[in-house]
Amino acid sequence: MRTLREGAEWLNLPLTSGQVEAFERYFETLSAWSGRAGLTGITGREEVQRRHFVESLALGRELEKADALGPRVIDIGSGAGFPGVPLKIVWPHLEVTLLEARRKKATFLNELLSALGLTDVGFVIGRAEDAARDPAHREAYDTVAARAVAPLPVLVELALPFLRLGGYLASPKGSGAPREAEAAKTALEACGGQLVTVEPLALPGAGPQPVLVLVRKVAPTPQRFPRRAGIPSKRPLR
Ligand code: SAM
Repeated sequence: MRTLREGAEWLNLPLTSGQVEAFERYFETLSAWSGRAGLTGITGREEVQRRHFVESLALGRELEKADALGPRVIDIGSGAGFPGVPLKIVWPHLEVTLLEARRKKATFLNELLSALGLTDVGFVIGRAEDAARDPAHREAYDTVAARAVAPLPVLVELALPFLRLGGYLASPKGSGAPREAEAAKTALEACGGQLVTVEPLALPGAGPQPVLVLVRKVAPTPQRFPRRAGIPSKRPLR
């Protein structure tokens, strides 16, 4: 796990040997599931460390610096566990909940959490549109982290209902982030969000540099959002 260790040090987040072991076990579990459940196209040891582990830590570090990390965090569309599980490994005090719509991916996540002994991670199998209507989850979080789940206009509608007033939505995006942010103006206005930053998420070494979109919830989200499952992506707020 050299790339992980070096990346974490570069981020000024030195890992304990227990945390490195947890990431090793994470990699083994992911490898054992390789090709199943459409978990991730990134499977090589180096790539997983950089694109999944270090990127998740870089996200946590930026959020920490912005005073926007938790304590209650929900990872929407967690897939193979990114970024929610790395956040929990490195910041164990966080109350992390993973939300994933696909049952097979949820089975993987359950197995992963047992392999890592993370018994206190919350877990919801279902769609964000439905979970956001559940009083146990609505306005119940300080931070929503979501990577590669939906374009920003859609993500804003899915994510902001989960946040308390003053909470943050954080999403690493690609180079199209400024365009997505522009397109999300109506959704932000409608759902009570305010764009805070659209800035490169600094990562060590060569390779794609993600762009972090950070949104703050500044007004309550009207009860009519999110619209019913599938509608936000079919008819994004514009
Ligand atoms: N966040 C992970 C990552 O960065 O590796 C997974 C990304 S994957 C491309 C997107 C995930 O979001 C999929 O696992 C999909 O099932 C989930 N997803 C998409 N829309 C969703 C929704 N409305 N509610 C819950 N999960 C959703």
